[in-house]
Amino acid sequence: MKRTGDLQLIKELNKSIILDVIRKNGPISRAEIAKKVNLSPTTVTSAVSDLIRDSLVVEGGTGESSGGRKPILVQLNPDVCFLIGVAIDASKITIAELNLNAKVKRKEVHSLKENIDFDFCNVLIKMIDHFFKKCKNLNNCLGISITIQGIVDSEKGMVAYNPKLKIHNLPLKNAIEDAFNIPTYIDNDTNGSLLAEKGFGNYQQSKNLIYVTIGDGVGASMLVNDSIFRGFHGGAGEFGHTTIDYKGAPCNCGNVGCLENYVSWRAICSRIVSEIEAGNKSLLVEEVHEDLSKITPELFRKAIFAGDVLANTILDDMAFYLGTGLVNLIHLFNPERIILGGELAFENPLLIQKVNEHISRYALQTHSRQLEVFPSSFGNDSEVVGSASLLLHELFHFTLK
Ligand SMILES: [Zn+2]
Repeated sequence: MKRTGDLQLIKELNKSIILDVIRKNGPISRAEIAKKVNLSPTTVTSAVSDLIRDSLVVEGGTGESSGGRKPILVQLNPDVCFLIGVAIDASKITIAELNLNAKVKRKEVHSLKENIDFDFCNVLIKMIDHFFKKCKNLNNCLGISITIQGIVDSEKGMVAYNPKLKIHNLPLKNAIEDAFNIPTYIDNDTNGSLLAEKGFGNYQQSKNLIYVTIGDGVGASMLVNDSIFRGFHGGAGEFGHTTIDYKGAPCNCGNVGCLENYVSWRAICSRIVSEIEAGNKSLLVEEVHEDLSKITPELFRKAIFAGDVLANTILDDMAFYLGTGLVNLIHLFNPERIILGGELAFENPLLIQKVNEHISRYALQTHSRQLEVFPSSFGNDSEVVGSASLLLHELFHFTLK
């Protein structure tokens, strides 16, 4: 049986670009598509016929006539097939079913023990297999799209290095494809988040974007002239391991004074705990009934809003260090926008505001005048929308216009 919306059928670039125009502008006539993509009406008509035959596009309604017959309009059929997004971080694996508009239909979160000593691939395959059991028709699954922290060679489908999960050179794409016989895509989590903003977020027009994640690690992904800057081995964007204090504490990467040791959740949480243990008062103590191991990023944000002095002092320092790192990135890359994601930036407008103030004070005016730092567009679903965006980018090629 033919797989609906087989990726092979729509791989040709023109068709992909036409499909993206339909997704963003539908309902739209064939003539309007031809104008937007600068292709001949014959090429557009033939591509649209293929997309309709493939059920990815449907006809519906008529547009304004420019003299002759009213044109029939076409639009994306987002629920004709689905894909699986898998977001892996140091503490959990989130699996979701999404449609072609990156809309989450169903989501499961599995926690990971801190020091895992199990076969990571097998655990992941079992989780995906369990998730598939509740999917209606696997023939309609376009693929599996996986993001993971660390250094990822997306072309080879290899996780080169993930210290938190103790992974070295793991051929994850092959392992998943062998297990399920479904096309699989993998990339670094921050690259996925950047693609999500570019394809579905509020900043689709920007060709020079930087996405920074601050969670249990700190990473960056850079969109340079509409293409992700990956470096030689896919290792570009290790923003968390750039030095901001050469007299600072040693980092587990071998360097000293790395940004990650000042602004990641691990660093922030250990500072909260040590300040409280040193006798500083905080609303957080009551919130967790004196069990300091229960402090979460969400409670930290709540304490900031409630005006807790300790939480706000730590936030000020965090914004200062993060702002310092961002000014370095701004001077190197001169981006149009910076987007801050990750659980410490989520619903944290005061952090965004303070970082913006730091940048306007310390960055070169030529670089900062029109630049602004924004929060991620996707809130709670940002991780899996980021994962899904790897596959959806193959489908729509949204960085190519
Ligand atoms: Zn480091």
